[in-house]
Amino acid sequence: MNNITIQNLYKDGYYGQFGGAYIPELLHSNIEELKQNYLDIIDSDEFQKEFKSLLKDYVGRPTPLYFAKRLSQQYNTNIFLKREDLNHTGAHKINNTIGQILVAKHLGKSRIIAETGAGQHGVATATVCALMNLECIIYMGEIDIARQAPNVAKMKMLGATVVPATSGSKTLKDATNEAIRDWINHPENTYYIIGSVVGPDPYPDMVARFQSIISIEMESQLLEKTNRNYPDHIIACVGGGSNAAGAFYQFIGNEKVTLHVAEASGKGIESGETAATGAIGTLGVIHGSRTLLMQDENGQIIEPYSISAGLDYPGIGPLHAELICSKRATLHSISDDEALISALNITKKEGIIPALESSHALAVLNKTTFSPSENVVINLSGRGDKDMATYLNQFNLI
Ligand SMILES: *Cc1c(COP(=O)(O)O)cnc(C)c1O
Repeated sequence: MNNITIQNLYKDGYYGQFGGAYIPELLHSNIEELKQNYLDIIDSDEFQKEFKSLLKDYVGRPTPLYFAKRLSQQYNTNIFLKREDLNHTGAHKINNTIGQILVAKHLGKSRIIAETGAGQHGVATATVCALMNLECIIYMGEIDIARQAPNVAKMKMLGATVVPATSGSKTLKDATNEAIRDWINHPENTYYIIGSVVGPDPYPDMVARFQSIISIEMESQLLEKTNRNYPDHIIACVGGGSNAAGAFYQFIGNEKVTLHVAEASGKGIESGETAATGAIGTLGVIHGSRTLLMQDENGQIIEPYSISAGLDYPGIGPLHAELICSKRATLHSISDDEALISALNITKKEGIIPALESSHALAVLNKTTFSPSENVVINLSGRGDKDMATYLNQFNLI
């Protein structure tokens, strides 16, 4: 376990045994084009200048690292919240879509496609397409379109075409299939923006690099507030794992930092209504990547369930599969009810209404005891505006 850094953890497209690019032959040239070019593009001065300028003036970075005084008193430790909820569009996802749209521009692509489940990634993608004046097509399951009307309206107002996926269960995995089909048919002019540290290599690495700004900022903010540039603990929720990858990135090689992964167990790990991939997932291939996924004995994907749409994913990014299996990260499976209790608590204690996803990270405070001298950073991945209907309903506020 010594000297693990993201650089020596990620080798030849794999994190340990997880990762790779398990793709149809017809996608090979698209992926190869990206693989050959992404690092040179990202490292170029021109890219860095534009990326940093947009993160600052468009997204609103750096996001604050807020010392949560009343929460700290409650849990008798030092709790800091990394305020990704304050980003433009309300979550961390925009860090990644800004990065990828710039890559698409450098590759000379004119047409952007993406798939979305709850619509959050669709909105973040439609936003940057409007910003860059690029055509935007969002694939979304027909059922999800009906469930997520406000996000569909946003995407349309931003100028995106929302295409319903009508096959299979009419949810995220069917939308992914449609997006991949589109990409195969339009390899010349189309770029596929993936929304988390998932998919075929090099997507997980590229997305982690774009989100790493979260932990890069934490280092200097912690130094200023605690006189040390690393915390004792970092807690983040994991759907595919992009906000967690960004929050962990700079600290993966520092064994003094305990990394906590909060996944959604829905109605319980054994309930059959869960998204606890880290706990019950087995090795397989999903979205072009070899990783842990929830599958039945025939290798068919089990429909995931969580109250939180962003964590409702049957796989987990290959980086996190490796961190969990090597025990570098501590896994917590958090139920719907546990997340809801923590959402209400932070709202009353700090005046911050969190996204349901982020509430799963907050719930780890009830699962682990931290000492009074320790510094604990919780990555507050998003704000709760999108979840108000669920909160009102659950807390009987209407
Ligand atoms: C999408 C989303 C997540 C889950 O995605 P990751 O890639 O695991 O970070 C978490 N929090 C919020 C607010 C989201 O919108």
